[in-house]
Amino acid sequence: MNLKGKVALVTGGAQGIGKAIAVKLAKEGADVVIADIDIDLAQSVLAEMKTWGVSAVALKADVSNSHEVEDLVRKVQERFPTLDILVNNAGITKDALLVRVSEEDWDRVLRVNLKGAFNLTKSVAKVMMKQKSGKIVNITSVIGMMGNVGQASYAASKAGLIGFTKSTAKELAARGITVNAVAPGYILTSMTENLPQSAKDAFLNQIPLKRAGTPEEVANLVAFLVSDESGYITGQVIQVDGGLLM
Ligand code: NAP
Repeated sequence: MNLKGKVALVTGGAQGIGKAIAVKLAKEGADVVIADIDIDLAQSVLAEMKTWGVSAVALKADVSNSHEVEDLVRKVQERFPTLDILVNNAGITKDALLVRVSEEDWDRVLRVNLKGAFNLTKSVAKVMMKQKSGKIVNITSVIGMMGNVGQASYAASKAGLIGFTKSTAKELAARGITVNAVAPGYILTSMTENLPQSAKDAFLNQIPLKRAGTPEEVANLVAFLVSDESGYITGQVIQVDGGLLM
């Protein structure tokens, strides 16, 4: 994959899957902007990336806030001549059984996971439409396709992201922009490390490959989807889940 000369914006890139995506795209030659709510952690990733011979830029933004997102995209445009790749990766969970889910937690999950992607895609699509090219990847989840006990808000947000992916893929195709979704299964990150052991075991029992995935295994697919090599793929949801859902 050669991403030299491409400018990529990765949300939630300070850790976990987003960090692996930022590192992979930078290693493939892209100029990478990491946008995260935790700017200190994002800065520490830059230092780490330097030791691997790649660099990036870190900017603070809460993806759920449309003003912060507009500001973020403006800053990226001030620094770089193009904006070629958007990875909507920032996401949160606030797990609880349905009857215990507070309205506040429900709203926060939907605002970050779904409205966040809307905010970013709306702002970035305007730039890409003028360029007549662009690659957008939304990080959804197999939970959005299969559901899970205690994850009604998360599953709803991720299922919504799939519908959003397909609609924007249809809308933006004529402008040379592809939009795809990547659906990870059980990946080892801070999001999953605090799951109860029983929940981890339940996942592992259902995964034919009998192990959790790594952030790098998700990043490898994202790198392909944002490269020229995937030019005829749009509106798709591709799983990276060890066979968990088939
Ligand atoms: P993670 O380790 O928790 O990383 C997510 C990053 O996003 C964190 O740095 C987080 O900052 C940041 N973030 C949270 N809210 C934000 C906001 N409003 N604006 C900007 N940044 C924000 O999670 P992950 O496991 O890498 O997950 C990345 C994506 O993959 C998510 O969309 C998740 O739903 C999806 N996914 C993960 C798995 C899995 O098994 N791990 C499976 C399927 C899908 P803070 O830490 O400060 O909140």
